[in-house]
Amino acid sequence: PHVARLIAAGEVVSRPLDVVRELVENALDAGATRIEVEVEGGGLALVAVRDNGAGIAADAVALAPVRHATSKLEPTAGAVERVSTLGFRGEALWAAAQAGELHLVTRPAAQVGAAEVRASGEDVTVRRTSAPAGTAVTVRDLFARLPARLRTQAPPAAEVREITALVGRYVLHHPGLHWRLTVDGDPRLTHAPADHRGAVASVYGPLSANRVLRVDGEGVRGVVSRPELTRARRDRMHFSVNGRPVLAPPELERAVIEGFAELLPSGVAPLCVLDLTVAPEDHNPNVHPAKQVVALADLPGVAARVQGAVASALAAHPL
Ligand code: ADP
Ligand code: MG
Repeated sequence: PHVARLIAAGEVVSRPLDVVRELVENALDAGATRIEVEVEGGGLALVAVRDNGAGIAADAVALAPVRHATSKLEPTAGAVERVSTLGFRGEALWAAAQAGELHLVTRPAAQVGAAEVRASGEDVTVRRTSAPAGTAVTVRDLFARLPARLRTQAPPAAEVREITALVGRYVLHHPGLHWRLTVDGDPRLTHAPADHRGAVASVYGPLSANRVLRVDGEGVRGVVSRPELTRARRDRMHFSVNGRPVLAPPELERAVIEGFAELLPSGVAPLCVLDLTVAPEDHNPNVHPAKQVVALADLPGVAARVQGAVASALAAHPL
């Protein structure tokens, strides 16, 4: 059972990137306006995420690292179909505590003292402390108890590249927040609240911000590159669905390109950052454990909205 538990945890958290994603999504779910991510040793030595969100009440904090304990689902049938938070399985902190050493300090703004939790395997200790409002979660020595997992990890520099890209995607899709990513003590990415254009500047550099036009359609908001400044960079099409960055289905990438119509030479893909809003029951984040693959009930309808919103943005800004 001990080994089975470790293996199950290693499936929820299979690399440092997963820890970063889960902790950032918890901070977003907590309504944070400031999210700071810290990584050391490619994330294997340390991943830390500090937020100024809602915090966890002292009487609930011992449950946070317990498997399947979540505060985000009503215990009723059908609740999972209507979920609007990024998390809902209650497995991330549990998995982090199995795969590494979890340390969490948290305080809701209205509560006087803070609580500190240390969890390592099944050992959980809670004590009182003091701390600013919000939550700071640190995961150290990831996979120290899972040597087989440790051996198959990417080199730290490669993992840091992916973590930087991931945090960049969160910045692009949540540009109204303060963000900071620190890697081995060096600031890698900082962003102060702005619009999507400001986020493009933070992630791709100030010059890129002048290359984009605002898209503001029904349930489709963000930016696309100006056609005359568009180059072939397929990796720069970013979509989120209800706040979660997702791997876009090819239909949505095609919809953006079709929105450009003849303005785009063939084989060229624009830069875009598009936030899609759909009714919770119209999308299923459950098709993939990392929830990055999204199943949209009405993909043709969403694609048509995307194409229309991009076309109107371009029409509003003639060359
Ligand atoms: P899930 O997000 O699926 O509920 P997690 O294991 O990620 O599961 O977190 C367990 C619980 O701990 C959450 O339901 C939430 O109540 C609490 N929690 C975790 N991180 C935070 C945070 N940064 N701020 C506030 N509460 C948090
Ligand atoms: Mg979570």
